[in-house]
Amino acid sequence: MTNPNPVEIGKHQSEIGKHQGSGYAVPTAASTVAAPDWSAPYPRRDWFDVRRLAPGVHLIAEPGHVNSFLIEGSERAVLLDTGLGVADIRAVAASLSGKPLQVVNSHYHFDHSGGNRLFSDIAIHRSGAELLARPAPEGLAGAYMAYTRRLIDAWPGYQELDNTYFHLVTADTLVRPLPPTFDPADYRVVPSQATRLLEDGDVLDLGDRDLRVLHTPGHSPDSICLLDERNGLLFGGDTINTGPIYAQLEDSNVEAFARSTRRLTELKGGVGRVFVCHFMRVDNAPALLGEIADGFEQILEGSVSYRNNRDCLEYPVREACFDHFSVFLAGDVETRV
Ligand SMILES: [Zn+2]
Repeated sequence: MTNPNPVEIGKHQSEIGKHQGSGYAVPTAASTVAAPDWSAPYPRRDWFDVRRLAPGVHLIAEPGHVNSFLIEGSERAVLLDTGLGVADIRAVAASLSGKPLQVVNSHYHFDHSGGNRLFSDIAIHRSGAELLARPAPEGLAGAYMAYTRRLIDAWPGYQELDNTYFHLVTADTLVRPLPPTFDPADYRVVPSQATRLLEDGDVLDLGDRDLRVLHTPGHSPDSICLLDERNGLLFGGDTINTGPIYAQLEDSNVEAFARSTRRLTELKGGVGRVFVCHFMRVDNAPALLGEIADGFEQILEGSVSYRNNRDCLEYPVREACFDHFSVFLAGDVETRV
């Protein structure tokens, strides 16, 4: 795109000259250069951001929305979550691994199971099977697409501020436009059938890699984490997150959340890296586990203060803020979609 308003450097030469000696490079001859084009907010258009996080582990992110993970062993692979269902995550997974693929949902929520319809073999914790097969509340798909619209509208302004001041956004965290083949008006939350029920302590044997299922209720009754003990990797589902941790939902349970997050700090064998399903900080040091467990304990003790906020579906929440995350608790609202 050409810049409609090129800056004529020569025009400001006398002005710039006043700052000589301040360390700025000053053009010596009148010239015309294009100012940076910040009107193009989308240098990345692929819906998925695919990144190798560790040997045999790929992030399949929908930046600004949700993160899924492809975890490969010598014999088999697990796709942890199937994302929103806006684009074909199966094709992405197939491009990364030719091994037989087992889908595992970290929990039943639509943003983690939206691509389930593309697969035939789906595992979820026993307590999530019925929730996964239940028709979604009316209005949920539309409410999420309204959020998506707000996110996309907010992005150019956010990126411009980042370009000018903060420099935190990287190529892989750029929010992308919806795929051209996708019509938000057609978005539906489609129920799916589990083919395998998981229990706490189950081990998914991928060949040279084992994934242990940890039932960690709190965000939802069926939430799990997966632990790759041999490689010190923990996949935190929606139990561990950066940014707001959602404990405000109708089937969230703050006491269970506190127990589950404390349990994660007591894992034997050591966790080296913690991967999370939302927001831009995907790859975290294990210290985050202790911070979150402590945070939930402080919430239960009543020793934290709150600010008012809104969740992604615009419901009012109370937000307890900590150094590297926050926790959303139910605000003054009677019913949710
Ligand atoms: Zn969730």
